[in-house]
Amino acid sequence: MASTLITVAPTGAETAKADFPALPTTLDELVETAKRCEAAGAAMIHLHIRDGEHRPTLDLGRLTESVAAIRQNTALIVQLSTGGAVTDPYDRRLRVLDAGPDSCSLTMGTVNFGDDVFMNPWPFVTELYQLTQEREVVPEFELFDLGHVAALHRLLDKYGLPYGGRVHCDLVMGVPGGMPGTADALVAAVNALPDAVTSWSATGIGRTALPVALAALSKGGHLRVGMEDTLTLAKGEPVTHNAELVERAAVLATLAQRPPMSPDEAHVQQGSPRGADRAVCRPAGEQPAGAEGQWDEKEVVREYGAAQPEREADERRSRDRVE
Ligand SMILES: [Zn+2]
Repeated sequence: MASTLITVAPTGAETAKADFPALPTTLDELVETAKRCEAAGAAMIHLHIRDGEHRPTLDLGRLTESVAAIRQNTALIVQLSTGGAVTDPYDRRLRVLDAGPDSCSLTMGTVNFGDDVFMNPWPFVTELYQLTQEREVVPEFELFDLGHVAALHRLLDKYGLPYGGRVHCDLVMGVPGGMPGTADALVAAVNALPDAVTSWSATGIGRTALPVALAALSKGGHLRVGMEDTLTLAKGEPVTHNAELVERAAVLATLAQRPPMSPDEAHVQQGSPRGADRAVCRPAGEQPAGAEGQWDEKEVVREYGAAQPEREADERRSRDRVE
């Protein structure tokens, strides 16, 4: 019987811990969340991490520690966000791969994001993609719009298949500025996907979560859920633990006669070696470096244009992007 990959995106960069204390932001909370979500049916975790004050960060030490802790405690595919927050500079987003995840998000273009702009210029996309190939990290192509689907055709035509040979996408729908979270938009995007795509999932932001999940199951897709994207189960009913969203997704998938996929099946689907195997298959010298200054910031700025303006931390906390 066909099964359903359920990815949990438990934290994101957008929601403040002060507003949602149930949001997992510490390492202990992330590990507890990962274990409970795995038991509820998740097979992959999409991670953003926070600093000691619960603010979004791309700190390499924390990223590396989080990847290791989740691998130790679960069999989940560990996917790190390379989006960070809208204010994170490109070089730091590239260095996320130094933490040695199984998978990483790779957003296929720039998108308006509420009042902000989530910047993904083509040279950045291609550099990040080639880095995933070098580092043997499986990318998940994040598609916020039909134009991002066209960009995925262009990327695969020019640079070939990802590490692992599978092509997995995630439709991120309902972001103010991206494609709407509707069945019609989902069908249009899925029908336009490159033939090389081997699996896709979808997530609807906020109140579009359920329509998108139901449309995705109807169209043969997989599911991403979590507090990064959705903070309520129904109007006036806040999520109290990410596992509630995973449990709901597992019920929907089971009703659709495509029950949740195990992490082992998901590793095969994604073409991703298990975490324990990665240490041996990763070439020596490509271990997470953990050292500052590996990337030349000036070069990055020159290639992609000026990075996003820096903002104060509290502004970042309240306005950062979801993906
Ligand atoms: Zn994300």
